[in-house]
Amino acid sequence: MSYGEVPVPGDLAFRSGRRTLMRTGRTMVFGGVTYPMDRKRDKKDLRIRLPLGVALLRDPAFNKGSAFTEKEREALGIEGLLPPRVHRIEEQLDRSLGNLRRKPNNLDKYIFLAGLQDRNMTLFYRLLLENLEELMPIVYTPTVGEACLEYSYILRRPHGIFVSAKDKGRVAQLLRNARIQDIRIIVVTDGERILGLGDVGADGMGIPAGKLALYTACGGIHPFQALPVTIDVGTENEALLDDPLYIGLKQRRLRGEPYDRLMDEFVSAVQEVFPHALIQFEDFANHNAFRLLRKYQDEVCCFNDDIQGTAAVALAGVYSAVHIKREGLRDQKFLFLGAGEAGLGTGDLMVTAMVNEGLAEHEARQRCWFVDSKGLVVKERSDLSEHKARYAHDHRFIEGFSACVEAVGPTAIIGVSGKPHMFSREVLETMARLNERPIVFALSNPTSKSECTAREAYTWTDGRAIFAGGSPFDPVTLHDRTLVPAQGNNVYIFPGVGLGVIASCAARVTDEMFLAAARTLAKHVSYADLSQGRVYPPLPRIREVSKAIAIEVAEVAYRRGLAGREKPEDVAAFVNSLMYYPEYQHLA
Ligand code: NAD
Repeated sequence: MSYGEVPVPGDLAFRSGRRTLMRTGRTMVFGGVTYPMDRKRDKKDLRIRLPLGVALLRDPAFNKGSAFTEKEREALGIEGLLPPRVHRIEEQLDRSLGNLRRKPNNLDKYIFLAGLQDRNMTLFYRLLLENLEELMPIVYTPTVGEACLEYSYILRRPHGIFVSAKDKGRVAQLLRNARIQDIRIIVVTDGERILGLGDVGADGMGIPAGKLALYTACGGIHPFQALPVTIDVGTENEALLDDPLYIGLKQRRLRGEPYDRLMDEFVSAVQEVFPHALIQFEDFANHNAFRLLRKYQDEVCCFNDDIQGTAAVALAGVYSAVHIKREGLRDQKFLFLGAGEAGLGTGDLMVTAMVNEGLAEHEARQRCWFVDSKGLVVKERSDLSEHKARYAHDHRFIEGFSACVEAVGPTAIIGVSGKPHMFSREVLETMARLNERPIVFALSNPTSKSECTAREAYTWTDGRAIFAGGSPFDPVTLHDRTLVPAQGNNVYIFPGVGLGVIASCAARVTDEMFLAAARTLAKHVSYADLSQGRVYPPLPRIREVSKAIAIEVAEVAYRRGLAGREKPEDVAAFVNSLMYYPEYQHLA
């Protein structure tokens, strides 16, 4: 590949920080790539190394397609390699959106967007950012679920790192193969519990890749500071094991000691190769998720999004719901359907929040009830894990969910079971009988796993439910009133938390940070939103929300002595300066 030195325009280089050029210590990021920066050099004489000619057009970090100016085409050796007309990014966006909308189904749209990301990173992120409501369901749930089920067939150009059970002893070496060495966020899965779809092995890579696209679009994390990782330890999915085209290891999952050793090696390798990186554990099965979190959360900078991110988004939704009801958190009784990562994580954060409001811990726990696949979580059961047992109440055992609702009398039901239709007509009618404004959160993903639809929740409660879904639902018109279901999506939380951790160089991610994130998110729900029944702000406001969360998370890090860099005079301005905005850099 041929390279050339190209001068960076002085005003661009020293309009420093915001949007165009980000400097991180001794490096600067230009057009998506980090360069070493010689501080002693004359400011006007900054030059960067770019691939030239065909190689430039094939590099998604630099490629601008038809937006290269005539001057750039000449300087970079790409004259004649592009059609003559120069387009503005706005025109390219129109064309891309038109092409996307012509695709016959969502999976084809997903493939189109993945192709755009491979060709022109700036255009991909700009398209995503400007059309979040339309494109997020494609890039992430529910379509990402479909994409994971087809991943072995639709994967074109892999991003990120695959660490397999065969890589024991050389994980650090694999991480060093990443294009960029200033990685600040790693989203990692082992593919065992992808959304509500179960074990999809190495095909689970769609999830970390999608999450990182959202980190960039919604939190302004630079795409080159983010690395998706899949730890392929095998799969128990028979269809994949039998599929000759499956991309992962054809073996049963590693378990026990060998699994733990590989995870230990991965976590240590991250500390060695990317010492400032935050690790986000994503879609690990229940039995590993809690264990890994407990093992690493006090050792390294990490969190589990299914446990802690979900908890914060659910708590924020509940804050909004109680605001609508003009009640407090302590006035509620929560009945969770599902006592897994999402349910217990949310229960734990609710308890922390209620204790913060002055309740004793046992009083707060008394307000959180759980139903798992066997039935109501009660003291007389002998099959409860330590984590569930903390929510076991003195009550007779009940099996069916509907009977549990009758017996417990909750003000809120929160579905995190991955089992569709469990919020049946009978359940919803009971909730409507017991409560003037029942809180109904059907958070299971993808849409096919949702405990009920928005229409069912509103119709069977006579329009009185305060509803949130895990996946997006269309507005519902009932008795001449349009109700707008909110999507309880972790995307409201993790990008802001990640940005705050980067901004403060936090050594750990704490529950206090998630509590701060939940409160900040709830504060961004306006009266207009609440009056339509929306418990989260509209997606187009998400960057503003992420920024506010990042500021609060960074403040927690500074307050608790967890920050790894000196506190800037103006934390908000500093956070703002870190946020990547996808726009073309034009050479002088
Ligand atoms: P998990 O496997 O850790 O937990 C699932 C729980 O559901 C278990 O306690 C299980 O016993 C229980 N369960 C299964 N069948 C049941 C039944 N018939 N009745 C009652 N309980 C039953 O999974 P998880 O990580 O907690 O995720 C659960 C669901 O929540 C998934 O569908 C996931 O997509 C969704 N989720 C949504 C969000 C969001 O942002 N909306 C975030 C995280 C998880």
